[in-house]
Amino acid sequence: MKICIKNLNKEALKKALSDLSDKSYVIDNIFRAIYQRGIKNFSDITDVSKDLRLFLNNNYEISKLNLVKKEISKKDTCVKFLFSLQDGETIESVLIPHKNRLTACISTQVGCKMNCDFCVTARQGFTRNLSTSEIVNQVLYLNDYAREVMNKKVDSSIRGLTNIVYMGMGEPLDNLENVIKSVDIISDDNSLGFGKRKITVSTSGLVDKIKIFKESCNARLAISLNAPNDEKRNQIMPINKKNPIKEIIKTIKDLKFNMHNFVTIEYVLFKGFNDAVDDAKCLALLLKGLPIKLNIIPFNEYKYSKYHSPNMDTVSKFYDLLAKEGIVCNVRHSKGTDISAACGQLKSKDL
Ligand code: SAH
Repeated sequence: MKICIKNLNKEALKKALSDLSDKSYVIDNIFRAIYQRGIKNFSDITDVSKDLRLFLNNNYEISKLNLVKKEISKKDTCVKFLFSLQDGETIESVLIPHKNRLTACISTQVGCKMNCDFCVTARQGFTRNLSTSEIVNQVLYLNDYAREVMNKKVDSSIRGLTNIVYMGMGEPLDNLENVIKSVDIISDDNSLGFGKRKITVSTSGLVDKIKIFKESCNARLAISLNAPNDEKRNQIMPINKKNPIKEIIKTIKDLKFNMHNFVTIEYVLFKGFNDAVDDAKCLALLLKGLPIKLNIIPFNEYKYSKYHSPNMDTVSKFYDLLAKEGIVCNVRHSKGTDISAACGQLKSKDL
């Protein structure tokens, strides 16, 4: 079977074509044809030699995702896409409009290994990593949709995606190589030219991988903390037994993030579990002085979830306490809850 050319970042493509051409403009032309003009056949890359087109045609293919289902939220114009992959596996991606932003939330694995107690993706277990092209194709599909549909329906100033978050199904840092290659591709000037500061990769806290990520990728980093101490984090996120909170904090300090290049800390608020005044105080103590911004996310309930959403009063109190302690924070109300498109509600199999 031929491999999809979208699995290759520029460096890899250059290497693959080194016997035919060593000119970097040739690689640029191929990138522009694939990612900017969206050609379907290599014969349409008219600005490279015939030999090269033939070589590409004999060795590569240009894959795309098949849309199985699209759901549009009635509450907030959030759109959820279910795609099928070449081997029949399925994944979800979400388009989230918010004021003048249009964010794509994309998946990196079919299922997930992390087994977080509260997360619906965890329930479907782990099947496989997504390839670079499967990650890139989600971005391309949602960007085209944003340009063609959202532009007309929502806001004519929207020219396509403004932000990309790797916060869909899976643990991105457990598929680090493909994630980094996908960031390379979508941020390339001859592709979408997406600013790396507009791309956020979220992790449940794989400390060793965070180091590699920081060294090899300039995208922003988010860490799902979700608890103020190890005792509570151990109960909801098994990864914490391997990578406890103090290691996460040490990593943030050691890697020299700063308030320009800050880490987003995600903290899901679960009713009666981590939403008390003491939890807020403990969290403030933990985060004080670190180059972070805190996103407080009220838990989104789903069918059979054993955790519950906190009431709005608790959320405000929690927020106020942290803000008073000088922590830069935001409350993130999830969109798309009516179509199960909100944080932690993505699954591609019936459970
Ligand atoms: N595995 C990565 C990427 C997934 S991001 C990570 O853990 O960061 C998904 C985010 O949604 C995580 O911050 C997770 O803690 C949060 N989340 C999961 N289930 C949720 C739910 N039901 N309601 C709100 N947030 C949830």
